Amino acid sequence: MDIALARTWVQAIAAAVDAQKDQLTQLDSAIGDADHGANMQRGFVAATAALAEQEPAGPGDVLVKTGSTLISSVGGASGPLYGSVFRAIGKTLAGAGAGSEPAADARRFADALSAGLESLQRLGAAAVGDKTMVDAYVPALEAFQQAAEGAGDGGKAGDFAAAARAAAEAAEEGMRATTPLQARKGRASYLGTRSVGHQDPGATSTALIFRALADVTA
Ligand code: ADP
Ligand code: MG
Ligand code: MG
Repeated sequence: MDIALARTWVQAIAAAVDAQKDQLTQLDSAIGDADHGANMQRGFVAATAALAEQEPAGPGDVLVKTGSTLISSVGGASGPLYGSVFRAIGKTLAGAGAGSEPAADARRFADALSAGLESLQRLGAAAVGDKTMVDAYVPALEAFQQAAEGAGDGGKAGDFAAAARAAAEAAEEGMRATTPLQARKGRASYLGTRSVGHQDPGATSTALIFRALADVTA
């Protein structure tokens, strides 16, 4: 991942959020407070605007800026959660793709995604099965790591694309698997058993984020 790809990824997320805003809101109206589409849109519109002003040294700077902007512009739980994820991914990529440094290959990016999950769980304390974004993120990370491992050192651009595609598929499977679960974290947990039978909005936006990565690397 280099600066151009990091920017294109964030722009692709913004475009996908824009297209799926109503669906995200609808899912959140069933088990939350019907603002997930608006929260995501506010955050990613602000992030793309912030990136347009930025002169990043590497892709890490792009993603740290994205994360900080999500934290400062989104009031809901998803703002600080996704904000910390993007900040951690960006910090882990520091140096990559800057000046004469090589862009982050699939292995380096797998480590960055892993730091993103650590940060998400440090803040939100959700585990797989709690019906949150973690249910899409964990399988996506595992699929990405597995594909990146097989790619070997250095890696080709195609390896990154294959890893991103595997991650997107795994995220979507994790997203669908949230439907029968009872929420144990966030607003949806207040509903108890009434949260069963609805797909989690945050797992849905996480799948959208990984699908956007697959799309821009394909
Ligand atoms: P809010 O719940 O504050 O209105 P959003 O609607 O934007 O925020 O986001 C809701 C989503 O955030 C949920 O669907 C869930 O996936 C995710 N979420 C909530 N709490 C947590 C948590 N503690 N850990 C991980 N994800 C969480
Ligand atoms: Mg909400
Ligand atoms: Mg809210």
